[in-house]
Amino acid sequence: MDKKIFLLDGASGTCLWDKAKKTIPVWRFNIENPDIVVELHKEYINAGSDIIFTNTFSANREAVEKTDYTVDEIVKAGVRLAKKAAEGTDVKVALDIGPLTELLEPYGDLEEETCYEIYREQIGAGMSENPDLIICETFMDIEMLKIAVSVANEYDVPVFCTMSFDKNGRTIMGNSVKDMVEGLSDLKVSAIGLNCSLGPDLALPVIAQFKEYTNLPLIFKPNAGVQTVKDGKTVTEFDVESFVSNVIPAIEHGAVYLGGCCGSSPEYIKNIKEKI
Ligand SMILES: [Zn+2]
Repeated sequence: MDKKIFLLDGASGTCLWDKAKKTIPVWRFNIENPDIVVELHKEYINAGSDIIFTNTFSANREAVEKTDYTVDEIVKAGVRLAKKAAEGTDVKVALDIGPLTELLEPYGDLEEETCYEIYREQIGAGMSENPDLIICETFMDIEMLKIAVSVANEYDVPVFCTMSFDKNGRTIMGNSVKDMVEGLSDLKVSAIGLNCSLGPDLALPVIAQFKEYTNLPLIFKPNAGVQTVKDGKTVTEFDVESFVSNVIPAIEHGAVYLGGCCGSSPEYIKNIKEKI
């Protein structure tokens, strides 16, 4: 293989809930059960991940303010735990930033300026602990992603972006792959692609669309474990073998960063590593 492929990690939420035997917002584990967070990061590193994502996905004001914690302490702890796990290795730590649950105006009540403030707070807290890059993932609204990336661009680190598409290549908010690429064209983005929402088979045609619009390295991080209902029937989860055999073809479409989302585990990453 002439092109280097980098491995990302797999799911955090589903794996941490498994370890903790309780389903609470996963960012709480950064304070309440930090050992399992480090343990999971290390499992991904041992499986072959070149980049691990901090456990900070929805650790923003919207969610954290409902508790006694602050965004600052949760996000800083998340970056510190990932860096601790990666210590002594070449593994890079990506500050993980997710979308907000409230929709931006005019679809929801979230004002643009408030959205900026929320991301400045979350990204600012994370960057004070010096992660290697920022990943904005699972976005469904290009306008919200543009705000997050604008804030991320205030720091001198690479920014990766992924959105979640349906099988027709549209996000819940109706954005297409083209909308995503064009929307980000004035911003500094080092890699672009998709994560979550689809298993690797349905995600392949979507990742294939990207090269029509961009030469950026592509990110392919589909989910594995979420059951979906299709034509009234429940589609079974992907096991390791079927997941990996459907992920590898993404390399042909320009995917350089491979990983898994919800339902995947270190075993999935280890198998991708073995296949490439
Ligand atoms: Zn996911």
